[in-house]
Amino acid sequence: MSYNFKRILVLAPHADDGETSCGGSISKWLEQGKEVYYVAFSSARKSVPPGMPEDILEKEVKEATQVLGIPPGNLILFNYPVREFPTHRQEILEDMVRLRNEINPELVLLPSTSDTHQDHQTISQEGFRAFKKASIIGYEKPYNNLNFHTDLFVVLEEKHVSRRLEALKCYKSQTVRLAQDNRVFPSADFVLGLANVRGTQIGVKYAEAFEVIRWVIK
Ligand SMILES: [Zn+2]
Repeated sequence: MSYNFKRILVLAPHADDGETSCGGSISKWLEQGKEVYYVAFSSARKSVPPGMPEDILEKEVKEATQVLGIPPGNLILFNYPVREFPTHRQEILEDMVRLRNEINPELVLLPSTSDTHQDHQTISQEGFRAFKKASIIGYEKPYNNLNFHTDLFVVLEEKHVSRRLEALKCYKSQTVRLAQDNRVFPSADFVLGLANVRGTQIGVKYAEAFEVIRWVIK
């Protein structure tokens, strides 16, 4: 890629949103020596399956981000109540402004502008307000998005997709929760299939696609 971002910030509404949507790109950028910061705004205590500890997602996100190679000091966790982000949007914005001043990222990843989940919309919209002077790209969540613009592609090697799959395995609580509901936490078939679809669009085996929300060339 012909850009040279050094500091990259991933904004995840819920603990697992970054790994499930752009884990391959995160792993590639870390391999290239870039600094990656990961912020999760909720560990979704209310969505933890019965019988599991309330803070299980906090443990899982620590493990999963380490599998990708994110240094523990670059993981920042907030505890906003899941599904109630819209009522906390001003506090969320203020947290983001603090993060901007501390980290000063050149590239920010957040949910796409067509994501229909209320917590994801809040992070997408407030993220734009806080980071509008940086480049911003929206990651893909096919089960949430009304539509999706594949504007930018990150070419991945098999090892990057494998690391994304390894990171997802850390989220045992989500696999259990969604299975109770007859839903499947992103399966290996889904992750490999989507990475292959996005790769096929640009003539490689695997890629992740992003919506370009803002692109700043310096
Ligand atoms: Zn989420």
